[in-house]
Amino acid sequence: MKDVRTIAVIGAGTMGHGIAHAAAASGYETRLFDVNESALARAREQIASVFRKSVELGKMPSTEADAGLERLATSSDIAEAVQDCDLVIEAAPERIDLKLRLMADLDRLAPADAVIATNTSALSITELAGSIGNPARVGGMHFFNPVHKMKLIEIVRALESSAQTLETIETVAKRMGKETVLVRESPGFITSRVNASIGNEAFFMLMEGVASARDIDKALKLGLNHPMGPFELVDLVGLDTRLSILEYLHKSLGEKYRPCPLIAQYVKAGRLGKKVGRGVYEY
Ligand code: NAD
Repeated sequence: MKDVRTIAVIGAGTMGHGIAHAAAASGYETRLFDVNESALARAREQIASVFRKSVELGKMPSTEADAGLERLATSSDIAEAVQDCDLVIEAAPERIDLKLRLMADLDRLAPADAVIATNTSALSITELAGSIGNPARVGGMHFFNPVHKMKLIEIVRALESSAQTLETIETVAKRMGKETVLVRESPGFITSRVNASIGNEAFFMLMEGVASARDIDKALKLGLNHPMGPFELVDLVGLDTRLSILEYLHKSLGEKYRPCPLIAQYVKAGRLGKKVGRGVYEY
């Protein structure tokens, strides 16, 4: 197993800043790279704010928070960010062309024995791995949003991920205080596949007039102990994002994931969720 001391995080957005915080807070030298300087500045501020909150809540002494922040370096130069690192965690936008270009850069610029983990939600990790010299060093490390609150990491085994790669990812995940599950690469892993199915079924029930949206949400919360109802959740995720996940699952796994026509209709109407002020509910 690779002894990890330095982690490079690629992309400083919603997930990247959270991952960089988790890495720095767990004692790793952390380098955060983004092509956008203002994303890096915002990420540093967000990370400092999570550290401050931990101190206020008494979860961490301020000396430890200061040391964590000191372990974080930001850079808009990818060569500088990945040199001498032991693990790269890629959290750039979900576009295959962009991630393939990044893989080529990492293959060229990161140490040849560094493990490369990707936080992709749905793209093929085997395809990303197959584009570099040694695909065995690539695996999936799927975090959840917000990273500092969510306990799970799905570790994804691509076709040629080595046992050493997966063990390295698992050790780092544990040191970040996360629980892990191991998944063979398949569309939607565990969580997105189950979640999309529940959400799609809820839309079918709404379309059939089985119950109101409020009552379907209430039933899943109070009867099945879900922390949020499926419509509350899809409003948070975004109906457009959920629809594209369902379309992908439908294309790759078959008929049972065919998106409910009602969710497609909501998307056409611009009811995309909380981010635009209206989805299944009005905000
Ligand atoms: P985001 O749009 O919030 O952040 C992406 C960041 O990458 C931006 O700061 C952008 O400037 C930067 N970027 C763009 N091109 C880049 C490049 N060539 N090199 C480095 N950085 C670049 O996206 P996000 O929500 O953080 O998603 C990142 C990845 O995590 C995606 O693969 C996504 O599917 C996955 N993911 C997202 C969530 C979620 O809830 N948002 C959850 C799990 C996994």
